[in-house]
Amino acid sequence: MATYRAPQARRPHIEKRARRQTLAARVVGFVLLWGLVGLMTLVADRAMPREHLPWKTLAIIDPVGAATKVKAARAGEDPAACRAILVQGGIDYAEVAPTTGQCGLTDTVRLTSGLAPLTPADAPLTCREALAFSIWERQVVQAAAFDELGQAVVGIDHYGSYACRRQYGKTEGPISEHATANAIDVAAFRLADGAVISVARDWADPGPKGRFLHRVRDGGCRIFLTTLGPDYNVEHHDHFHLDMGGWPKCG
Ligand SMILES: [Zn+2]
Repeated sequence: MATYRAPQARRPHIEKRARRQTLAARVVGFVLLWGLVGLMTLVADRAMPREHLPWKTLAIIDPVGAATKVKAARAGEDPAACRAILVQGGIDYAEVAPTTGQCGLTDTVRLTSGLAPLTPADAPLTCREALAFSIWERQVVQAAAFDELGQAVVGIDHYGSYACRRQYGKTEGPISEHATANAIDVAAFRLADGAVISVARDWADPGPKGRFLHRVRDGGCRIFLTTLGPDYNVEHHDHFHLDMGGWPKCG
């Protein structure tokens, strides 16, 4: 007569084996997952343009891609790397001496040549803001001007980059990125034929002028951390606020 063995007697052995199998399955799953991630990274590294790859170096000659914003923000945190990218892109700058106090300037430059000149010329910018501005001017503004208007932008008018103030000039509330020269308010673009495209006058234009301005804003959103224009609120009806601080915002 067969001896009946109670299931309880085998349970510790079965549970141990089941635990080993579960652990093995997890290890295999983990290895497969990371192997797949590694393989996809390798394929991306070989096949995708570098503007889409956050681990590749940033260059001003690169078209704007999925990784441009994150690379510009990261490069901007390293003063030497930021300046090296400007120089490599053929953009000249002058150092602005650091200052102290509530609106002290650090890591600040003034763009001197290599881009459409700014008016007024006295526009101190943090290096990361200068870097983002340079990419925007080369890859977005000039490209949109040629496509939509058939000519180059030869000058950019602005309402200021550095101003020791709170947001919207209020007496209370967050300190503006302008207080550290980490922003610029762009008002108009001067074309080679002498025409001026202004945000205030031409934003709503259904033709090439309006299309140019919308492309310029949309391109800004892919480079700067914050890009605000007439669509954002009435305070920005006449300029694009472009800055490299805080959380990403586009409007
Ligand atoms: Zn502003």
